[in-house]
Formats: sequence, structure tokens, C-alpha cells
Amino acid sequence: MNRINTIIKLLQNEFPGFEPQPAKADPLDVLIATKLSQNTTDKTSYRAFTNLKNDFRNWDEVMDASPASIRKAIRVCGLVNTKTADIKNLLKQMNKKYGKLSLKFLEKLDDKSIYEELLQYKGIGVKTISCVLAFSLGRDVLPVDTHVHRVMNRLGIVKTSAPEKTFEHANLLIPKGKKFLFHTLLIRFGRKICRSANPLCGKCSLYDLCEFKDKENYALKSNAEPKENNFIILEHI
Ligand code: SF4
Repeated sequence: MNRINTIIKLLQNEFPGFEPQPAKADPLDVLIATKLSQNTTDKTSYRAFTNLKNDFRNWDEVMDASPASIRKAIRVCGLVNTKTADIKNLLKQMNKKYGKLSLKFLEKLDDKSIYEELLQYKGIGVKTISCVLAFSLGRDVLPVDTHVHRVMNRLGIVKTSAPEKTFEHANLLIPKGKKFLFHTLLIRFGRKICRSANPLCGKCSLYDLCEFKDKENYALKSNAEPKENNFIILEHI
């Protein structure tokens, strides 16, 4: 078994019974939810997303709504001025280009065409598009956020300075059919064990495989109990 497959197996053992949720969300919902989740927790951004859905009947109403009413709906998730302006702008641009607010047509496009199509919008990057591909369209991609970037670098799977670079390398390195699974496992593992501050190296089942230079130091300080935090907004919309 090669190293990546061994890592995937060990991660699956860390979360017994876990299976990635099948993609079911609407692509435009995923885009908006991903924007709301920037710089805040998944639980908070989920509340903002649900408020938007409850306060407005559809994305057309959000597009035409006053900024104050959108800010009120999403105020729990921070950066409300920027997020309100970005969401309204995005909806207006899409409505102008497609004549309606729907991204269902993406289902018929291949991955490369979807990246090209959505990258033309200000404020939409590769990570957000990867989330649409994975959580809405059922494509086998590996969205790279800060958790995924950090854990992959500590393990030594990649040696990169930014999530965008990790994305480029990871999508070549991870076996086909396992990219989305790997993403969902790494997010959970990055929150529970390989945390940004004070990783629990002393309680880590990947310790022997890991190339993190400070793992011995952190192993001596791993007194905290691992806490699971498995709420992922895109699995709930
Ligand atoms: S040994 Fe430490 S740094 Fe390496 S994967 Fe485990 S928790 Fe992360």
C-alpha cells in the first residue's frame, strides 16, 4: 500500500463509520454558503445562511434587497459589510450574464470548464469552485482550506507555502476516487488532532508517518483530550 493510501486508511480508522455525504446542494447555495463561511466558524455561517433562506424567498429577492436587510440576516457571521456587498454583486453579475439566478447548467460542464466559467467572477477563487464541484456536483476534487493545507504540509505530502499551491499538487498526488473522501477526513482530523495551535501529536495515529519537525515537542505537551467538531456547513445545506 503506498503512503497516501496508508494515510487515508489511518484517517478512516480515526473516524470509524464515517462516510462522506453524497453531493446534494444547489450550486448557487454552495457558492453563497462558502462566501459566508470566510473568516468564521461553520456553525456561525450556517446560522447566517439559514437566516438568509428564511428572510428571503429566493436569491432574486436577496439580489434586490436593501443592504441593511441582508446585513441584519447575516450579522452573526462577521465581516457583514463586505459579505453583503460581495453577495449582492455576485448575484447581480450572474443574473446579468445568465438571465436568471441558477447555476444548474454547470452540471453539464466538465471540471475545467466550470473553473473557467466561475473564475471570471470577482471574489470567487479555486477553493470556492472546488467546494461547488465537490458538495453540489459530486465531482472528485479536493478543496484545500487552511486545515487541509496545514495537515498536508505537516505530514509531508506536499511542501507548499499557500493553499493554492497545495491544491495544484494534491489533485495530482491523491488517487482518483479518493480526493473528496480525503478532503472530508483531513478537515475532521485537522480540527480534532492536528490542530493549528497545539497539535495533539502525542495522541496522533499518524505520528510515525508524519514529517512535522516539531512533532516530538508537541507530543510531550499533548495533555488535552481530542474534541470532535464535525459540523461542516456544506454538508448541511
Ligand atoms: S504527528 Fe502531529 S503534526 Fe503530525 S499529523 Fe499528527 S498531529 Fe499533525
